[in-house]
Amino acid sequence: MKNRIITILALIFSIFIANAQNTPKVPMVKLNNGMEMPQLGVGTFLVKEDAVQRVSYAIKVGFRLIDVAQGYGNEKEVGEGIRQSGIDRSELFVTTKINTTEMRNGTVRESLDKSLADLATGYIDLVLIHWPVEGKIKETWQILEEYIDKGLIRCIGVSNFNPHHLDDLLEYARIQPVVNQIEVEPYLTQQKVVGYTFQKGIQVQAWGPLGQGITGVLEDPVIGEIATRHGKSIAQVILRWHMQRGLVTIPRCDNDAHTEENIRIFDFELSPAEMEIISGLNRDQRSNSKNDPDNFPW
Ligand code: NAD
Repeated sequence: MKNRIITILALIFSIFIANAQNTPKVPMVKLNNGMEMPQLGVGTFLVKEDAVQRVSYAIKVGFRLIDVAQGYGNEKEVGEGIRQSGIDRSELFVTTKINTTEMRNGTVRESLDKSLADLATGYIDLVLIHWPVEGKIKETWQILEEYIDKGLIRCIGVSNFNPHHLDDLLEYARIQPVVNQIEVEPYLTQQKVVGYTFQKGIQVQAWGPLGQGITGVLEDPVIGEIATRHGKSIAQVILRWHMQRGLVTIPRCDNDAHTEENIRIFDFELSPAEMEIISGLNRDQRSNSKNDPDNFPW
């Protein structure tokens, strides 16, 4: 009987060790306020009905950074997915974004209270201004600073900000933005905005890292060749390119097989020449021409 118990315990222990070794470790990046965030996470744009399962699965395979937005209409489901994963809240980094409508309507406080209630994660790690709504950035920023003071959110940042938007904000910001989340992929390298953002001590985060699945970058033959050489998929090579550029990124988690594939990018490295070839594919091509920070219709 005693031997059987020992054998069973040894088996459980070996499964635990095997799992621990199998879970890829995502590097952390240090933000300008001293806090850290995982360099790779998952996005939840257009993940709605099955968001609970998809988010919970992503956390189970090792993702700890979850990106959501008021505009995606799924904060409740994402919050539930976080709880169902069984991973301790303190290990996770949750981002949401203030919708343009709330900025225009003067309902930013109400929207933040709703995000806090819907996510029900106690606090939110990072809140971003989703788009630079002209004439509304300063008052929104001051409300975000107020919520930091109250301890309800931990970091604040921006999204879709061009250098001139950053310059304006930095003139009056009492609390510095930690992140600028912008559209970046091999067909849209955003060299200038990336460089300027880093120069200001702000972490660049790439949205649409795989071209939103619509720009054709996932079928690019040049990246395909590099992928074959490394025994990886095109998506994995693109995500690895983002990592080696020093960007944080958040590929969408709408498919568990993809989610599992997307975290397995820490066991190979692109050479400087391969990095250059991928960056050289730039066409300044947005996934949608409406995604222009200086002229967007929402
Ligand atoms: P994405 O570049 O992550 O591409 C999503 C598409 O790629 C989906 O169709 C998905 O099924 C597919 N995909 C994912 N992994 C794959 C793999 N391994 N192989 C093949 N296909 C794969 O596009 P996205 O979702 O728009 O961007 C990522 C996240 O960025 C969003 O989910 C959202 O959280 C955020 N985002 C932010 C903004 C903003 O304005 N700040 C705008 C859009 C998206």
